[in-house]
Amino acid sequence: MNKSRVRYPPSPTGYLHIGNARTALFNYLFAKKYNGDFIIRIEDTDLERNIADGVSSQMDNLKWLGIEWDESFDKEAEGYGPYFQLERHKIGVYQKVIDQLLENNKAYRCYCTHEELEIEAEAQKSAGLIPKYNGKCRDLEKDIIEENQKNNLDHTIRLRVPEDTDYTWNDIVKGNVTFNSKDVTGDFNLLKQNTIPTYNFAVVVDDYQMDITDVLRGEDHISNTPKQLMIYDALGWKRPNFGHMTLIVNQDGKKLSKRDTNIIQFIEKYKDYGYLPEALFNFIALLGWSPPGEEEIFSKDELIEMFTTDRLSKSSAKFDVNKLNWINNKYITKLTDNEYTDFVLPFLNNKYKIDNQSWAKEITLLYKEQMTYGKEIEELAILFFQEELILNDECKEFLMQDTITETLKAVAHKFDNIDSFNQELIKLSIKEVQKENQVKGKMIFMPIRIATTGQMHGPDLIKTIELLGKDKIIKNINSVINHIS
Ligand code: GLU
Repeated sequence: MNKSRVRYPPSPTGYLHIGNARTALFNYLFAKKYNGDFIIRIEDTDLERNIADGVSSQMDNLKWLGIEWDESFDKEAEGYGPYFQLERHKIGVYQKVIDQLLENNKAYRCYCTHEELEIEAEAQKSAGLIPKYNGKCRDLEKDIIEENQKNNLDHTIRLRVPEDTDYTWNDIVKGNVTFNSKDVTGDFNLLKQNTIPTYNFAVVVDDYQMDITDVLRGEDHISNTPKQLMIYDALGWKRPNFGHMTLIVNQDGKKLSKRDTNIIQFIEKYKDYGYLPEALFNFIALLGWSPPGEEEIFSKDELIEMFTTDRLSKSSAKFDVNKLNWINNKYITKLTDNEYTDFVLPFLNNKYKIDNQSWAKEITLLYKEQMTYGKEIEELAILFFQEELILNDECKEFLMQDTITETLKAVAHKFDNIDSFNQELIKLSIKEVQKENQVKGKMIFMPIRIATTGQMHGPDLIKTIELLGKDKIIKNINSVINHIS
């Protein structure tokens, strides 16, 4: 059996987006699972829309996610390169196929101008029709074509689209899909006026010449597939298998859009926010694919092992931010303390000016169990860096209860008398106040927590007090006592 070859062909018109990353990831899983090759080709023919760091954003972020390719421009395989479409264009790859199509009368030269075509399309639209090329140049006389060529007239190359013909394929995700040519397109362009190939043409030529066996891509391309099948057929080339994955939708079931500000759209942003690549890989793998059973935390190797195309989902994949955060938290808590502090400290240092790094490390460790993403440490640890204690209404209300001022005064006094302010002595002082003032449980620990941290909930209180340090603690308690009176 021939080796499977799958591909991810980004257009460098933007940064790596969650939707594209998912396409790449499933192709990667497919290749690894079925012992195939995963190829990256760059579809850079949309000259106006290409951006300068489009390619590097794709490649760097895929690598960061752990999606490694077997073949691309930096890892050429004999007989398959180049991997940039513009380079392929320059060496005549597409022109050669065009010559063959013209020769066999499967395609023709179209001399219609943009203006003409636009007027035509507008007229069709206002008549309630899908704009289609009217076929004006379909059967031009030979001598007219020769004359036009002699005069170097700008033209495109169009495919002769078979009329009223069904195009059917057995989709890897959706099962049998059929489109009739009359519902899809009129004769469409293969080469633009500038001789650059259109997406639909270049993709067929490249998939065929690169021996791609399976094309797994997003559902947004499904209406391109019949057009591509027309090209395969016109050339007498064997078609690859096609699979179209359902779209990713937001919480409201709508297609992801830039306006969904609570969803991070670009992979580099996930890096910036402190999502772990392994966690994101795990999360994305569950967007539109599900494993058997209830378990949701899987390593890359486990995902490769379990992946089968029949579990790619037929309904849209909901992007659940809470699930993403839950998964990331699982991966963060699995880090060793050293790995964790290496990961989180840069976020803290980036936000606050900190001289004592071992103190900063201890602070980050307080929040390890609850952390959902690395940058969250800026907020979580804010009480260590703010000048004044800020109390919310819930805290203020709690402090209004009887005996709290006396308790806090006693605590401040005890703390003040500690020479070496460490956890053991802090605990001992609190115990003494408990005994001497006859207060226990919530009525001692909650006032202390609020008066030292300004919060009703938080990590290990004794450790937090130690890390805040004696001066700050006493200052905080006194300001709360003032507030109450
Ligand atoms: N360059 C196309 C895109 O980025 C690739 C589509 C395909 O997989 O055929 O959407």
